[in-house]
Amino acid sequence: VWKSCLTIIKDIVEWQHFKTWFEPIKPVELKNKILTIQVPSQFFFEYLEEHYVTLLAKTLKRELGKDANLEYRIMMDSGNNSNRPITMDVPGHGYKTYTNNEMDFPLVINNPVKNPFVIPGLKKVQIDPQLNPNYTFDTFIEGDCNRVARRAGKTVADKPGATSFNPLVIYGGVGLGKTHLAQAVGNEVKRQHPNKVVLYVSSEKFINQFVDHSRNNAINDFIHFYQLVDVLIIDDVQFFSRAEKSQDAFFAIFNHLHQSGKQLILSSDKPPKDLEGVQERLLSRFRWGLSADLQMPDYETRIEILEKKMKNDGLDMHKDVVKYIAYNINTNIRELEGALISLLAQSSLNKKEIDLDLAKKVLKNFVKTSSKEITIDAIQKMVCDYFDVPYEKLLQKTRKREIVQARQITMYLAKTFTKNSLKTIGEHFGGRDHTTVIHSCQTVKDLMDTDSMFKESVLELQQKVQLAAM
Ligand code: ADP
Ligand code: MG
Repeated sequence: VWKSCLTIIKDIVEWQHFKTWFEPIKPVELKNKILTIQVPSQFFFEYLEEHYVTLLAKTLKRELGKDANLEYRIMMDSGNNSNRPITMDVPGHGYKTYTNNEMDFPLVINNPVKNPFVIPGLKKVQIDPQLNPNYTFDTFIEGDCNRVARRAGKTVADKPGATSFNPLVIYGGVGLGKTHLAQAVGNEVKRQHPNKVVLYVSSEKFINQFVDHSRNNAINDFIHFYQLVDVLIIDDVQFFSRAEKSQDAFFAIFNHLHQSGKQLILSSDKPPKDLEGVQERLLSRFRWGLSADLQMPDYETRIEILEKKMKNDGLDMHKDVVKYIAYNINTNIRELEGALISLLAQSSLNKKEIDLDLAKKVLKNFVKTSSKEITIDAIQKMVCDYFDVPYEKLLQKTRKREIVQARQITMYLAKTFTKNSLKTIGEHFGGRDHTTVIHSCQTVKDLMDTDSMFKESVLELQQKVQLAAM
C-alpha cells in the first residue's frame, strides 16, 4: 500500500522534497485500515503534519477507501541529549560516524595544531567568524513560536551544506530572535566542526565592504574572499533591497557556495516572497531551501525566557513579578528583556526591592505601546455571534458543515491573532489536539483560495478581531 502511495506522491511532489520528506518514511504496519508509518524525528513529524498532511490523507484514502487512517511512530527524538549517531565530515577520511559521547573529546580541543581533524600540510584559512558567543542554542528557548526554525537550525548545524535546508531562511519581525538563532547555528557549527570556516555578516556590512572594494577596483577579491567560507550567515537581507550591484556580487557568491555544497543561512524581516527590490533570480534561489518563521512566544514561553535570563544573570524575582512582565509585554523579546533591565535599573537606583508595585510603575511605559492581547474566548464569542452558532457547538463533536467551518475559522483566527500555542488553542475547543488546529488553519487557508464567499466572511471577521485588539 505504502509503495503505491509513494508512486502517486512522487508525481506530485518536487523531487528534492520527495527525497527529503518521503524516502525516509518506513511503513510499519497496516491494521483495520490504519497505516502506521515510522518517521525519524519529532521535527520530521511536525513538518509532515504542517506541509503534507492533506496530500498524505488523500493518497491513503484513495488506496484504502474513505475510512483509512494514518498513524505515526517517531523513531527517536533529535533533541540535544539523544545518543543518535551523528555523521560528520572528516577531511581526507571520508565520512565517519561518531556518537555524541565520543565527540566530546576532540571537540574541546581549541588548539588547531593539536586538533585531530586538521591534517598537517593542508592549508586552512583562518577567518574570524564574527559570532557573539552568548547566542547559542542553549540560550535560545524553544516554544511553538520557533520550533520549526530552531530544529531546522539545529539540523543545519549538525550537517552544514549536507541537508536540503540550503539556504536556510529565517524570517520574522523585529526582536523575535533572527540574529540570535542565525548565530546559534554558526556557534554550533564551530563547536561540532571546529575547522569549518564560518562567517557572520549583516547585509549592511556586506554592502559597505562591497562599495569599498568596488571603489578600489577589487570586486574580484571581495567575491573570492566570500567564496572561501564553508558556512555563510547573512543577517537582515531585506537591506539588500535596491542595492543592485551588491546583489550581483551576492548572486555570484551564492551560486559558488551552493554548488560547492557550502551552507547559506539568511535572515529577513519578512518572508522571501514579500521582499521588494530584491532580484527575482535571488528570490528563486532563496526558495531552494527551507524558509522558517519566528513568531512572538506565548505567555508560558515568555516566562521561560525571563527565567532563563534571570538565571544566567544570577537574579531572583518573585514569580508574580515575572508573570506580570510576561503577561504585559507581548510585542517582542527585545522589549521583554528591556522591561527586565529597566526594572533592575530602577530597583538598584532607588535601592528598592523589586515587587509588583515597582514593576507596575516601570512597565507603564512599555505596556502603553503594546496593543491589547485578544483572548481565544473573545474570538470564539465573535465568531458565534457572526454565524449565529451556539458556543457549546464549537466545543462538541458536531460534524455539521456550518459548525465545522465556524470552528475551523475560530481556530485560524485564534492562531493568527493570539499568542497562544497550538496546544492551548486546541484545549479551548473541548480538548482537541494540536494537529487538529494545524489542519483547521490549513483548511481555512485552502478554502480562502477557492471559495470567495468564504473568504469574504473570514476577512470580515478578521477585521472585527483586529478592531477589538486595538
Ligand atoms: P532580531 O534579530 O529578530 O531582531 P534578536 O535575535 O536580536 O532579534 O533577539 C532580540 C533579543 O531577544 C536578543 O537579546 C535575544 O537573545 C533574545 N531572544 C530572542 N529569541 C529568544 C529565545 N527564543 N530565547 C531566549 N532569548 C531570545
Ligand atoms: Mg537582528
